[in-house]
Amino acid sequence: MKKLFGVIGDPIAHSMSPAMHNDLFDLYGINAAYLPFHVSRGNLEAAVKGLKALGVSGFNVTIPHKTDIIAHLDKVDPLARAIGAVNTVKNENGLLVGYNTDGPGFVKGLEYMAADLGSRSALIIGAGGASRAIYFSMAQAGIGRIDLYNRTIQKAEELVSSCPFKVESKVLGQETAEKTLDEYQLIIQTTSIGMVPDTESLPLSPEKITQDTIVSDIIYNPLQTKFLKEASKKGAAIQNGVGMFVFQGALAFELWTGIFPDVERMEANVLRNLGG
Ligand code: NAP
Repeated sequence: MKKLFGVIGDPIAHSMSPAMHNDLFDLYGINAAYLPFHVSRGNLEAAVKGLKALGVSGFNVTIPHKTDIIAHLDKVDPLARAIGAVNTVKNENGLLVGYNTDGPGFVKGLEYMAADLGSRSALIIGAGGASRAIYFSMAQAGIGRIDLYNRTIQKAEELVSSCPFKVESKVLGQETAEKTLDEYQLIIQTTSIGMVPDTESLPLSPEKITQDTIVSDIIYNPLQTKFLKEASKKGAAIQNGVGMFVFQGALAFELWTGIFPDVERMEANVLRNLGG
């Protein structure tokens, strides 16, 4: 029987996940379909019950449900529980089990760029949901120092103090972050600053970025934010948000099928989608 997969969210019409996963099902000869489901906040519980009753094999979860869904699942993996967000659900013998592949996907994408991640000092800009998934996953992966800069300092402090994994961290104000950017070999921009239509904005001055640094910006619209352009001018290696999106999808696909998929093919699929 054909297996059912999908993604729930609101809005959902422009999700790139159906094209990416359906292409992989074709590639690996898996008899399955992946559909987008528009689910408003008020319908979340009913939608999850319905998917379970239909025997869905797995689904992704996107804005605005990543936190609220936890209350409606049978089991939640410890990392997803610590992050407080689920983006992937797997049906395990009739039970819906929640995972977070956003943070681990980001880390896996970085590992493709640098083999020496563990020895790099990292600065994360931003302290929202994506930052939390990335910070916890990097700490779990053993990155020894991860400092944080966020416009609202209390949110950064709360994020650092709630992390269950051992990691050295300082919360910085804007001035200190800008002055000490040259101390980091890994800078990760997780705020929405620089996203369309506000493409000329910067989260902080990139003046002191050095050429030994990897600078990652998890935005993929535009593909190169002003922050990445400035980092590239300084000679830094840059990575955009397509990597995080592709690798969270790859890890979800692996959870569902046991196959770690062809990430280059997935990236080409996403870039085609973004190019219209
Ligand atoms: P979120 O939870 O709403 O957090 C937003 C973050 O941006 C907070 O740190 C917030 O700072 C900061 N921010 C927003 N506007 C700002 C401004 N004008 N000045 C200074 N700081 C500002 O959002 P999120 O879910 O973490 O998503 C953040 C970005 O990541 C979005 O652009 C999203 O599209 C992208 N994203 C990409 C992927 C991917 O797969 N590539 C996955 C998830 C998210 P305060 O705390 O001070 O408000």
